[in-house]
Amino acid sequence: MNFELDSGYLEIQRQARELAASIEPLAAEADASNEIHPAVLTALQTSGLSDLMVTSEHGGRSERLDPLAICIVREVLMATSSHLDSLFALQGIGSYAITVGGSPAQRTLWLPRVAKAKSLAALALTEPDAGSDLKAVTTEIESTGDGLVLRGSKSFISNAGSAAFYVVFAKEDSAFSMVLVPADMKGVSVTPTPELIAPHVLGDVHFDDVILPADARLGQAGQGMDLVLATLGVFRVSVAGAAVGLAQAALEEAVRHTRTREQFGRPLARLGAVAQMLADSWTEVEMARLLTYRAASLAKENPAASLHHSSMAKLAASEMASRVVDRCVQMMGRFGLIRDSKIERLYRQARPMRIYEGASEVLRLGIARQLTEEVQ
Ligand SMILES: Cc1cc2nc3c(=O)[nH]c(=O)nc-3n(C[C@H](O)[C@H](O)[C@H](O)COP(=O)(O)OP(=O)(O)OC[C@H]3O[C@@H](n4cnc5c(N)ncnc54)[C@H](O)[C@@H]3O)c2cc1C
Repeated sequence: MNFELDSGYLEIQRQARELAASIEPLAAEADASNEIHPAVLTALQTSGLSDLMVTSEHGGRSERLDPLAICIVREVLMATSSHLDSLFALQGIGSYAITVGGSPAQRTLWLPRVAKAKSLAALALTEPDAGSDLKAVTTEIESTGDGLVLRGSKSFISNAGSAAFYVVFAKEDSAFSMVLVPADMKGVSVTPTPELIAPHVLGDVHFDDVILPADARLGQAGQGMDLVLATLGVFRVSVAGAAVGLAQAALEEAVRHTRTREQFGRPLARLGAVAQMLADSWTEVEMARLLTYRAASLAKENPAASLHHSSMAKLAASEMASRVVDRCVQMMGRFGLIRDSKIERLYRQARPMRIYEGASEVLRLGIARQLTEEVQ
């Protein structure tokens, strides 16, 4: 058993660091924006890293997507900019159903552009009345004699308004299907979502009787839930990677501050309670990183069979990131409260991670179910 990253992963980490460093001066501005930051997108395109999101057959880097490589990149990018992290992650999250269920024509048309980040991807699951309970969606696909009609609305969709296409989860008869909808189709429109505490490129997407060819479906009719699970199998653990990166960045901010600021005649870091917060935080970051890398390695082998490991890593790392960043703000005192300082940004950005791609409470239900089935 080897706990160190091999040279291939270290090279990917190096490339991610180079990309993150190149946009560092723009990070605060990009993270405050709910529109795509053009210079950050150009940097991602130039880095070539989004080719990790597509298989080599369609211009990607490897035969199969590698969740550990994706985790390592998200860990580095999130430490610098949530905007950059999201741009990178969405290229995979929004296109994986095409990789798994797309026809040769759909793959050939879209995936090479996704790999170069020339076309931005989006996955549209959530609706005003369907969040954690995905089966409550009301967006529907109607099969007509010569094609499909899509009607309904999706809300809180990342990349809405900037994506080249939407992979849409919808009801079809008594089951669920997925369709690939180019963003410029007649009947597709986008309205803004309320601004979040941590700004994000988001929008609500409306499909007003969008007429699609029959081959717009991804996979077979009724296969929609399988494609969602396949996407989560590869990408849920990547949220854990991002959470580890965020927590590490917060901890480094707190270390720099508490090492130099003195109170009661010595650096804060030497005061007992502060030292304990530093030690607990470092320990928790390391624990979460180990769990995340292991879950990502398992997801590489068999994403479906290891989804509960991905859920554990996502739960542990996102909850850890919230705890750690909160402690870091505490250790930094009033300096941790300054709006748009790095620590304040991280504090806000940690919060949504416990809600999207499986809220913590929903993840716990699945993990507990798996445990009770496994124990003899
Ligand atoms: C920044 C951001 C980006 C997003 N991007 C996308 C995107 O690209 N595409 C997309 O489709 N969606 C996206 N979403 C939406 C996201 O997927 C949903 O927010 C998420 O699924 C949770 O749904 P909800 O917010 O409606 O919460 P609800 O389902 O209303 O749940 C609220 C809370 O209730 C509790 N809860 C819910 N169900 C259970 C249960 N069974 N047992 C115990 N407790 C429960 C949990 O505490 C949960 O946090 C995004 C959201 C955010 C914040």
